[in-house]
Amino acid sequence: MDKKLIYMDNAATTKTSPKVLEAMLPYFSELYGNPSSIYDFAGKSKEAIMKARQQIADVLGAKREEIYFTAGGSESDNWALKATFEALKDKGNHIITTKIEHHAILHTAEYLEKERGAKITYLNVDENGFVRPEDVEKAITPETILISVMMANNEIGTIEPIREIGEIAKKHGILFHTDAVQAFGQIPIHVDEMHIDMLSSSGHKINGPKGIGFLYIRKGVKIRSFVHGGAQERKRRAGTENVPGIVGYGEAAMLAAESMEERTKTEIAVRDHLIERLLSEIPYSKLNGDRTTRLPNNINVSFQFIEGESMLLMLDRFGVCASSGSACTSGSLDPSHVLMAIGLPHEIAHGSLRLTISQETTMEDADFVVDKLKDIVANLRSMSPLYEDFVKKQG
Ligand SMILES: *Cc1c(COP(=O)(O)O)cnc(C)c1O
Repeated sequence: MDKKLIYMDNAATTKTSPKVLEAMLPYFSELYGNPSSIYDFAGKSKEAIMKARQQIADVLGAKREEIYFTAGGSESDNWALKATFEALKDKGNHIITTKIEHHAILHTAEYLEKERGAKITYLNVDENGFVRPEDVEKAITPETILISVMMANNEIGTIEPIREIGEIAKKHGILFHTDAVQAFGQIPIHVDEMHIDMLSSSGHKINGPKGIGFLYIRKGVKIRSFVHGGAQERKRRAGTENVPGIVGYGEAAMLAAESMEERTKTEIAVRDHLIERLLSEIPYSKLNGDRTTRLPNNINVSFQFIEGESMLLMLDRFGVCASSGSACTSGSLDPSHVLMAIGLPHEIAHGSLRLTISQETTMEDADFVVDKLKDIVANLRSMSPLYEDFVKKQG
């Protein structure tokens, strides 16, 4: 029996869209010249990179020469933190970030703290996952050299007040970086209006290829080179360019921007339908993240008396790909740091489910998943001694 695949894990990665693939293909075996070479044939590769850089810059209101290609979101985050710290450590050693960042930021900050003498402030968030701009301002010291706050959270979908935080950073003359891996292509971004100095993004989160990302670096920002070698990426990130990846990324960014309004409208309708049905039809459930200021494709719900892992395995039997807030899959027993930061008790964090939909997710898919989940949750609860006790106490 062929089971239908219902992919609701688009925050983990997305399908490379056929148009993106088509744009990439010639750059593997026909137009394979090294963009640094001087003959006409290689010029084709160079032009293709220039075009992609422009396509991406256009989405951000940036200049072409402010886009630096990397091998993905993690590299961009590492670069922004480590190289800013290196460049500015004579000015100060303090970095402000938050407790809900992706590990590419958190683990880099911890490295700088443990090995390089940085002082890091990890800001708390409120119960919906919002960073308070006034907390950012209060954390600033004369030593502060960088503020890094993600634009939208990858687990609970909360969209942060980036413009307000950017204004504070600008007022105090401090560099502002944002991890926009989940936000880019999903919500409008303008680097000038939001006072962003550096921004990370990744191709495979926006229907582009894996292994390609960029760091936007505002002209004039002092930051060290990340990879030393050839003169690629204005001498800041050496290595022969991933030409097909870059071409695909540019195409994906353009397509995401063009389709944003209509696509997100469809996604929001399906998202809200899912949230509505899950909360109203499954008792003892709770939405994580803000109800409205959230990514168009993110649903994150906790079910009491449930182990997230079991839920995922049972969904998988029906061809449903989802993700949970319990980190057992990653070899740790601790629940997600994001769910902890919004104040969920361990046992509720362990019973959380993240569904991240795409423009291809239909209302029928949504209904199928809710129907299955109702059975799965009831089934798992019927085997839970905790639930049994709870029901008895309720009388
Ligand atoms: C996926 C993700 C990253 C890492 O990007 P890669 O390209 O997979 O290295 C960083 N930050 C956020 C918020 C992400 O969702």
